[in-house]
Formats: sequence, structure tokens, C-alpha cells
Amino acid sequence: MIPFNKPHITGRELEFISDAVACGHISGNGKYTKLCQQRVEKQWGFHKSLLTTSCTDALEMAAILLNIMPGDEVIMPSFTFVSTALAFVRQGAKIVFADSRSDHPGMDEKSLEKLITKRTRAIVVVHYAGVATNMKAVMEIAHRYQIPVVEDAAQAIDSYFVDANGKQPLGSFGVLSAFSFHETKNIQCGEGGMLVINAPELVKRAEIIWEKGTNRAEFFRGEVNKYGWVDTGSSFLPADTIAAFLYAQLLDVKTIQEKRIELWNNYLRLFQNWNCNRVRLPVIPDFATNNGHMFYIVLENFELRQKLIQHLKANDVLAVFHYLPLHDSPFYKDKHDGRELPNAAFFADHLLRLPLFFELSFEQQQQIFSIIKDFIECNS
Ligand SMILES: *Cc1c(COP(=O)(O)O)cnc(C)c1O
Repeated sequence: MIPFNKPHITGRELEFISDAVACGHISGNGKYTKLCQQRVEKQWGFHKSLLTTSCTDALEMAAILLNIMPGDEVIMPSFTFVSTALAFVRQGAKIVFADSRSDHPGMDEKSLEKLITKRTRAIVVVHYAGVATNMKAVMEIAHRYQIPVVEDAAQAIDSYFVDANGKQPLGSFGVLSAFSFHETKNIQCGEGGMLVINAPELVKRAEIIWEKGTNRAEFFRGEVNKYGWVDTGSSFLPADTIAAFLYAQLLDVKTIQEKRIELWNNYLRLFQNWNCNRVRLPVIPDFATNNGHMFYIVLENFELRQKLIQHLKANDVLAVFHYLPLHDSPFYKDKHDGRELPNAAFFADHLLRLPLFFELSFEQQQQIFSIIKDFIECNS
């Protein structure tokens, strides 16, 4: 059986967990939490990062930090994971869903401006498959309307927006950005996440919200002589044993990314040579890089996609479709303003993700490709 995903273990996780245990501090914000945060900040030039127990938590922190209130509007793509919307809905926000691009499941930046109203309090972009949203276009609009941008960079570790000025890491554009280290992501610790704070004025409050509404982080740095309840918040920080696991992964980020990109390119080569007119291949816009997070194909129609999933399963390969658009979800359908989002609906019905994980072999990729090739009759 070829699974859809298999979490990669670098080999040093237990060594660092043992060390964390030996150090005697295994609750949050210990040695490995700090090591992870320092490393991430240095490697990608983020102003400040805080490890969280999930990307969902990081998004919830973002919604609290931006003071999202009942009635506020937040714009985001419909083709995304539940958490992107949920974090803001919990604060009472009304979600204004944007459609995907026609060539890519990421948000259609051209549809953004007309969704802005006097009540818009945030724009949340999602870098689908680790491929950048058009951040130049989004940031220009956001600046013009003075609306903060949050990046859901759950899938976008070590991926970049590219233009004539060079490349800039995803997660460094928004005032706040959220990453995931869930076991399905490139760098993982089972369940985990990270909030990146690019606006210096938000750092102090972020630390307070992170530590149950207390100024405990300041206290431990010796900046205040007692700590207490000063704001809202929750327990958003992971145990240091989790951070120790994550640290092993962060040390290996280069190897992990290279391997995943190599596998991604190998899939692309196989499908390009076949050149079947019933199968569309992923498009990486020229303003984006590929971090090898996900390889998907887009089938000609829903029926073919469903049959292919069954056929792969019968041949011991697990391939999976992706999001059901949030504007059409049982929870949000009645709250949505009724606009059709045809591109989001299209990708929901036609997209199929193929197995992609560190230990996948070229032979297995060839096998998966052959099963697909033998199943689909191309018209050309
Ligand atoms: C994985 C993912 C999340 C949720 O991440 P968790 O760490 O599981 O909370 C949110 N948004 C997107 C786009 C994701 O891919």
C-alpha cells in the first residue's frame, strides 16, 4: 500500500526530547521553544515568532490580536481549510469569501478589491500548496485601504514570492502569519504551529495572549517584578518536548525541501511526457516558488476524478481530493452572501492530490503514474 502521507522522522527527535527532559523544563517556552523560534526568525528573517500548539491556534491568536469583533468582515478564499475561517468566526466575524484563480486554487487577487467594504477588518491569504498568492497585488490593495493582511502560511514553509526585486519568504508579508507543523506538512511535530509577528507593536500583546492573558513572558525576562492577568488569551504554547521534536526537523529543513521538490519535479516530468488532454498539471505562477508541499492533478470532470480515486485505491494507492469550499459548507452556507464561486467549486470537484512524502521512491511514483496512465484514455 502506498499511503497518501507518511510523516518523516529525521533521526534526532528523540535525542532532543531526552535532552529537554534532562533539562527539567518540559512545559512551554523552554530551551527548545526558544531554539526553534530563533532559528526560524534567523532563517526567514521574521521579526518575531511564537510556537503554538497548531496553526489553528496561531490563526486564533491573529484574530484576537487584530481585535476582530462581531460584525467585522474578513476576506479570505473559500478554497481553504476550515481553520482559516473558524479562527475569525469565533470572534464573531462575517467571512466574505473570495474565489480561486482559474489556473490555480489560490485566491484570485483580481477579485479582492470589490469585496472590500467599510467593515472589512482583515484580508487573509492562503498560500495553497505552498505556492504564493500574488502578494504584490494584495499588499498594494491592503495598503491603499489600510487593511491588515494575515497569511495562512500553513503549507508554505520555505516558499517565496518572487519579483524583479528578488524573492521574499512567505510569512513575512502579513502583519501576522500562521504556519502549521501538523504531520501532513513538510516540517512537522505531529501537531504544532507558529505565529509570526511582523508588526513590532503587536509582539508584547502576542506574548500575553500566548500565555493565558498574563505577562509571564516579560516576568521571566526580568522586565516586570510580578506577573498577573492583564488581557484576554489562552494556553497557546506547546510543551518543550514538542518543540524539541520540531527542532530536529528545523535543522534538516534543507534536506527535506530538496527531497520533496525532487519528487515533485519527477511527478511533473512523468505527466508532462504523457501529455494527456484530460489531465491538467499544477501551475506555479511566475511570482511564486514551489516548496514541494503538494502534487495534484486536475481531472477533466468530477466523475473521472471519483473513478480514478477508486481505481487507485483498488491498486493500493491512496490519493485524495481536497477542500469542500467553505462558502458551501453545512456550517456557513446560510451565512454566505450567496455569490457563486465557480473556480473554488471547480477545484473542489476536479483536483486530486497524489502521495508525496520524504520516503516516497521514484519507483513508487512510476507505479502510481502507470496506474493513472493505464486507466485514463486520452483523446489526443
Ligand atoms: C493544515 C492547515 C491548517 C491547520 O493547521 P493545524 O496545524 O492542523 O491547525 C490551516 N490552514 C491550512 C491552509 C492548512 O493547510
